[in-house]
Amino acid sequence: VALSLNACKVSSQSKKTPQQEKNIEQKVDSVLALMTLEEKVGQMVQYNGSWDVTGPATGTTNEKKLQRLKNGLVGSMLNVVSVESTREAQRLTMENSRLKIPLIFGYDVIHGYKTMFPVPLGETASWDMILAEKTAAAAARETAASGVHWTFAPMMDISRDARWGRIMEGAGEDPFLNAEIAVARVKGFQGSDLASEKTIAACAKHFAGYGFAEAGRDYNTVNIGVHELHNTILPPFKAAAKAGVATFMNSFNEIDGVPATSSSYLQRELLKDGWAWDGFIVSDWGSISEMIPHGIARNKKEAALLAVKGGSDMDMEGGAYESSLESLVEEDKISETLLDDSVRRILRVKFQLGLFDDPYKYCDESFEETELYSEENQDLALEAAKKSIVLLKNENEILPIKNSVKSIAVIGPLADDKDSPLGNWRAQAEANSAVSVLEGVKNYAPKNVQINYAEGVKLSTGERSFLKPLSLNQTDKSGFEQAINLAKTSDLVVLVVGEDAYQTGEGRSQTDVGFLGLQDELMAEIQKVNPNVVMILMNGRPMDLTWSDENFPAILETWLLGSQHGNAVAEVLFGKHNPSGKLPVSFPRNVGQEPLYYNQKSTGRPNANAEVTYSHYTDSDRDALFPFGFGLSYTDFEYGKIQLSKNKFSASEEITASIEVKNTGDMAGEEVVQLYIRDLFASITRPIKELKGFEKISLQPGESKTVSFTIDAELLSYFGGDKKWVTDPGKFQLFIGGNSVDLQQIEFEYE
Ligand code: BGC
Repeated sequence: VALSLNACKVSSQSKKTPQQEKNIEQKVDSVLALMTLEEKVGQMVQYNGSWDVTGPATGTTNEKKLQRLKNGLVGSMLNVVSVESTREAQRLTMENSRLKIPLIFGYDVIHGYKTMFPVPLGETASWDMILAEKTAAAAARETAASGVHWTFAPMMDISRDARWGRIMEGAGEDPFLNAEIAVARVKGFQGSDLASEKTIAACAKHFAGYGFAEAGRDYNTVNIGVHELHNTILPPFKAAAKAGVATFMNSFNEIDGVPATSSSYLQRELLKDGWAWDGFIVSDWGSISEMIPHGIARNKKEAALLAVKGGSDMDMEGGAYESSLESLVEEDKISETLLDDSVRRILRVKFQLGLFDDPYKYCDESFEETELYSEENQDLALEAAKKSIVLLKNENEILPIKNSVKSIAVIGPLADDKDSPLGNWRAQAEANSAVSVLEGVKNYAPKNVQINYAEGVKLSTGERSFLKPLSLNQTDKSGFEQAINLAKTSDLVVLVVGEDAYQTGEGRSQTDVGFLGLQDELMAEIQKVNPNVVMILMNGRPMDLTWSDENFPAILETWLLGSQHGNAVAEVLFGKHNPSGKLPVSFPRNVGQEPLYYNQKSTGRPNANAEVTYSHYTDSDRDALFPFGFGLSYTDFEYGKIQLSKNKFSASEEITASIEVKNTGDMAGEEVVQLYIRDLFASITRPIKELKGFEKISLQPGESKTVSFTIDAELLSYFGGDKKWVTDPGKFQLFIGGNSVDLQQIEFEYE
């Protein structure tokens, strides 16, 4: 079998023609026809490979796993991350199994493999889709260089809740922006064709609703209706499916009583049938077996039954498929053809990747030398980091740092942290390998400026780890005095505060989105002795910046920017790079406002001018402190008047909205021009505005450009009252501006 398969090589480099696709289907069918039930089940099993496949098998679990690999009863492994281990695991299967079906190796490459790019939420602030594609492609090359074929990314869970630790892994609160970036990242990872050189299969996750965990508590129940599901949560998944993402991952959560892993509505009716998507769905880690604690399966066998009926094709380290699928078929609880569909999907991706032609694809140590942490990737990491920085406040143009500043105190628990910039989910990045802010400042400061450093306070005590919550320092203020003295005697303070890398990510939900530990106290003490503070915020979630905004003249949102963090920050501080990032999430005034998002709906209680809802708090404003889409520049942009090509249009037509934008300052800069639309009367209640387009433009001082957006019926459509996508005739408001609040407005009509 292996020989005859090898003979018909799948061509690489270009998008597949219908004939090539047909060839793949024929090959899939011919392999499937030879498979026993046991071998089919085997393809649906994924093992965690963090045990050493190259070493001697110790313990019964490993022995059993090794034996199954040899018998061709495993379809995939995750977390096998060296060329040597990949080659060995693949060899065990290829040299011993009956049908020689290659394994596919998967790994979490979320924002880089060895070179770290900004955490996904941060990179989204660039609103630069070419950049997102480039960083994903670079991450794919580094991943491939280690023998891995498949990343569990991009995560495209919309999140509106700063408390949810995994907000850092996604693209923020907006469906349109999420969909754009999801497609860019899929393209980056997969290239034009899965078989092309050094590209890897991507995975749209977590399908679906995971980012809507109640109270922002990871894994928690999700309660949303079907309209919210379609209009808010699904758009990025649908876009990724359309863009040809090879795999999906389902999610741990339930939605309205049905765990996503067993949801045939999501996995079969929508994804596989409705969207005609032909890849395979991997469960989340053990999420099939988790249907037991969910309380809808009594044992693994019942869990496997629910999941397979629901459309889950591969069981990630849950053991439910391995132990139960065969007997479920034998007992006639499910038909073998149900498994055939899953196996066919898995084989298809393996063929598309070219693994049948070369099971040892990417098992080449020489790649490691050329690809990993290359100079080219470091340059890209710097570019991505710079473009992700958002200037939130710049009173009296304190930034860029003036020539009159002769001494700078770099202060804060994160100022010389070379590890936090790497973020959570850091794949194979070396610990402490990032450029810290202090190092960046030293690299870029003019020679005659004195740079002093004081940590001020430690954020945590003891060890940091992925597995445990951060142990915060609540008592040790021994570094305060040195920091205060330094602040007193320096012209300017660069204060680096926020969150440690391990404060966001999976299982890292918090009820407090302020500055944990003793940071608040340190910030207040510094401010008392020197008001010239530039705050550098490092974080993976939107934070409560109310006090900082009232007390510091400048705030730079720098997220966790990856390997080149400090250099990127320094380029912005010293004016070598003009910041152009815009927030992909709303920043709250206090945690009580969460979940907070710009594209909310009007309630039935309008206020006096009937524009916004009367729904309010008695102890806080209801709007964001820094809204979605917001970010300043060192230059100024002036928007002209919105021009519409016509103000009425019908189904077969489209209209164009244009606006002229001018750089009226004296520095070149980039601006993200944003288009929002409101459907004024519809079959279900609709948001007060929704992002429907954006363009990032670059302008020299004095230069103007006209940006045009095309509006058609599809752009205005939504999942409506009769559970279909519709565009209602009637009036719409159209807004254009540089953020979701400061907007010009005009009306048009769709007939
Ligand atoms: C996460 C997934 C991840 C998987 C494998 C799970 O806990 O939810 O996003 O891909 O682990 O590491």
